[in-house]
Amino acid sequence: MLLNFILLFFTALLAGGLAYFIPSWEERYFKLVLVFAGSYLFAITVLHILPELFVESANPSRMGLYILLGFFIQQILALLSTGVEHGHIHHHGHQHASEIGVWTIMIGLFMHAFLEGTLLGNEGSLTAHVHDHAGHDHHHHHGSNNLLFGILLHKGPEAFALVAVLMSVMKKRWIFLLLSIFALASPLGMLLSNYLYESKLLGGETLNVFYGLVAGGFLHISTTIFFESSPDHRFYLNKVLVSMLAFGLAISLEMLL
Ligand SMILES: [Zn+2]
Ligand SMILES: [Zn+2]
Repeated sequence: MLLNFILLFFTALLAGGLAYFIPSWEERYFKLVLVFAGSYLFAITVLHILPELFVESANPSRMGLYILLGFFIQQILALLSTGVEHGHIHHHGHQHASEIGVWTIMIGLFMHAFLEGTLLGNEGSLTAHVHDHAGHDHHHHHGSNNLLFGILLHKGPEAFALVAVLMSVMKKRWIFLLLSIFALASPLGMLLSNYLYESKLLGGETLNVFYGLVAGGFLHISTTIFFESSPDHRFYLNKVLVSMLAFGLAISLEMLL
């Protein structure tokens, strides 16, 4: 748990720092990294999170509703955050970020990242659950490393985009403070969901509702990345290759880890 906390926090801090110190990297490599991370997120959602949620849910069709609701909630959060969590960086022409206000962006993004973190507090929850019912907990244990890896990959471009957006609208000295606040969101979500489970304040079934919401959010974020990476419907070979590479890696790690 502590290791996950440190990994999540510093991945966000480092990726944000990169945008801060080397802003010229933004254009050339950012889009490809974004497509890679988005594809990876899509892959673990489909390969890992969704199957697990449906298998474990006492009422699978209701789980489907939570996932749709999560998709919708993410749509609203993206209005607040101007799409920072799917790596949307508004350029100088757009005044989006300054119009909408830094605090709105921070609130939308923080809520998203906090929810996302709850998925990682489940070391006890989902594992114990699966163990109780089917006794194949080894499957889950292994997969959750892949889940962590996917979220860390997504955290990178997310933090990078946040700093890039903030740099265009505010003084530099505030940016690290806001970046640190954002970097704490997912670790705090993880600790809270872990605490709620351990203390038995919420049962595994209730926590699975949150995971369903997060899964819906992931579907929104990852598919939006696909859309925005080729808005003109042109075929970009490098993006397709990067996407396939991410799928391949996600599939391999899901089987091997
Ligand atoms: Zn967008
Ligand atoms: Zn996120």
